[in-house]
Parts: sequence; structure tokens; C-alpha cells
Amino acid sequence: MSRWCRSLLVSCGLCLWAFGLAEARTIIHAGHLIDGVAAEAVAEKSLIIENGRLVEVLDGFVTPRADDELIDLRDHTVLPGLMDMHTHLSHQGSRQSYLERFQLSPADFAILSVVYAERTLMAGFTTVRDLGDVGNVTISLRKAIERGLVPGPRIFTAGQSLATTGGHADRSNGLRADLQGDPGPKEGVVNSPGDAAKAVRQRYKDGADLIKITATGGVLSLAKNGQNPQFTEELIAAVVATAEDYGFLVAAHAHGAEGMKRAIRGGVRSIEHGTYMDAEVIALMKEHGTYYVPTILAGKFVEAKSKEDDYFPAVVRPKAAAIGPLIQETFGRAYRAGVKIAFGTDSGVSPHGENAKEFEYMVEAGMSPMEAIRAATLSAAELLGISEDVGTLQAGRRADVVAVRGNPLDDIRLLQQLHFVMKDGVVYRNDG
Ligand SMILES: [Zn+2]
Repeated sequence: MSRWCRSLLVSCGLCLWAFGLAEARTIIHAGHLIDGVAAEAVAEKSLIIENGRLVEVLDGFVTPRADDELIDLRDHTVLPGLMDMHTHLSHQGSRQSYLERFQLSPADFAILSVVYAERTLMAGFTTVRDLGDVGNVTISLRKAIERGLVPGPRIFTAGQSLATTGGHADRSNGLRADLQGDPGPKEGVVNSPGDAAKAVRQRYKDGADLIKITATGGVLSLAKNGQNPQFTEELIAAVVATAEDYGFLVAAHAHGAEGMKRAIRGGVRSIEHGTYMDAEVIALMKEHGTYYVPTILAGKFVEAKSKEDDYFPAVVRPKAAAIGPLIQETFGRAYRAGVKIAFGTDSGVSPHGENAKEFEYMVEAGMSPMEAIRAATLSAAELLGISEDVGTLQAGRRADVVAVRGNPLDDIRLLQQLHFVMKDGVVYRNDG
């Protein structure tokens, strides 16, 4: 560009600025604001949004300029976009789930994931961490959402989870011998430090954002034990060491205490479910700064379904009945002990879009509504290492904004009926 052109552009820009014709803004008038930082909600604020970012939060209801877009949420409480740190957007449990593994192709799961992603966003969840999918479809889903092709939350995905042979995420469990094959690192089955490194590198190559391991048995796999340790500490350390090379954090599914201890010592970022967490686990988590992602909703859901005949296969039903009811009490203990907690639901076990039920269970177990909201905003952003970008409504953050009529600090169940959802400054839902 010639110097003349450049100076013309600069002077035009100055003219536009001088005459108040700068970039069009969106202004939200918030009746009450929970910004994710302050201890209390504050009344009558204006959020100024430009280019998908929050540029200013001002006192009172500022008068918009002629070309500003005004969003009137004066009878609403406005909050940061909610963040669910444990979803499975590629699938959703039902009586047909186990049969569907033989009927549905990755393309079918990919199309379903588009539907589930939209439901999740419309429920106010603007960011999710997806912890285990089918055929890496959530990586494609993330790309489609980033390109604006389909509506959905911002996704940080593990792709396919890692397990040991016969472990919780070994998808050949329970199949007859000739269908089992011999899955390896590519499919997420690892049994040595070399396998672990290869599996992590494969996920890097696939385009995953983080790593998920199944450190113990689990409820829904076609295997007998729901809580036994399934990784050695050496194997977990090998996963974590390679993950660090690629900038990946590691999430560990764990129900039994021994598997949790190995995972925490091995350096994982978060423990998922944590059902049989004991005092030693709690002390280790505090010492290592490990996050707890409770997924009470999944526990409640599988407990209820364990009482129905034929919802789960026979090998799964007793595990669901035993493990499901315990998670809420574990959460209460971990919370009172001061473990770092980030909100997560395991949605995909329960229906997508009902994620906000988790808030009700957290508050029932003794957490204050404000702390529960913070677990799903600032703490979740800290878990992901992106708190400079999302998780609070402070100047400079992405404009991820949700709103609800009434005060969720008085009744946390209101978060199950959001009226307004904005992500990156784009309005996806405004029920007027
Ligand atoms: Zn899960």
C-alpha cells in the first residue's frame, strides 16, 4: 500500500472517530449483573460489546448512539455464559444405546452431535469440555461451530478417551471374542508408557484439545467392576508427560479411591465423578491443586434408571444402583473440605440441554448459589486455563452472556429456564 493510501485511510479513520461513526456496538442494559467476580449481584449496569468482546461495563443504563444495537434485559439477571466441564456431545443415553453402537455410523453420531450441541447452547452453556466421543466427531463438530456453520458451544474436546485393555473406555468390552479385535493406542487402548505416548500423539494429530483417561472402572461400560484401578501410576505419568509436550491437560474419570490417588500423583488436572473419594484423596487433591468435576446429575440419572427394568444391561444395572446415589454426598464433603470444584454434568448420560439441573443438586448439597454459578463460570475457565478470555463479564473478555428473569441467587432452579444466550457477541436466543 502506498504511503498516500495509508495516510488517507488513517485520516478517514480519524474522521469516523471524530464524528462518532466508529464500529457499531451492542449495548445490554442489565437489571442485575452477576459478573463472576463480585461476591454479590449488582443492579443497573450496561455492557458495551464490540467485535464479539465486552469492552466496558458501565454503571446505570447508558443511552445508546444512533447506530448501537440495544438489548433490554432490565428485568433480568445477566450472567457470564455457563461452562460445562464434562459432556459427551456425540451421543445420548437411552434404552437403545447399547444396540445403537452396532447400528449407527460415525456420520450418524456426527449428525446427532449437531442437534445436541444446539440444545446445549440454547440451555445457556457457551463453553463445554467434551470428555470422550465416538469416532472423533466432536473434533469435526468443534470446527463446524468455529466456522459458524452450525450453532453450538465453544468446545474443548478430548476426542476418544484412553483406557487400558478391558478398561472403562475400551469399547470392545462385553463383545463376543470375534468382534473384540485388539484395539490399541489409535483406538485409545494403552498398556505401556510407549502406548501412552503414541495415543496422546495420535490425539494431537487428530486435532483434540486435551486428554481423557479412565483411571478406574465405570458405570456404563459392559464390564463388572465400576471402581477398580485400571491404570498404574507409571502409565498415568506417561500420559501426563506426553500431554504436557503438546500443551494438553489431562482429565481422569475415577470412581474408586486408589485410582484417584494414582491419577492425582500422576499429575492429572481434574478428577471426574470421584465417587469413593476418601480423606486421603481430598488431602492429595488440595496438595496438588487438582480440580473436582462432580457430575451429580449423571449419578442421579443412572440411579433413577437402575430402578427401571431393561433400561440398562444386567452387568450395568447394579453398578448404576450402587454408584449413582453416592456422588452428591461426595460432592458435599469435597466442597466443605475446600477442594477446587468446577461444574460438570456428564450430559450424554442424561439428556443434553438439561445441564443446569446440576446447579440445583450442588446447592442441595450445601454450596451457595453464587459459588455454584462461579463453579460453572470462573472456576471452569481456570480449569481450562482460559480465564483471561471467558468465565467472567469483565472488560476484554469474550461476550458470552446469558440472562434469566428473576434472581437465581434466590432460586437456583431459574437457571433451568434461561431467556437469553449470546456467544462471542452473537445472540442465539432472546425470548423477549
Ligand atoms: Zn463422562
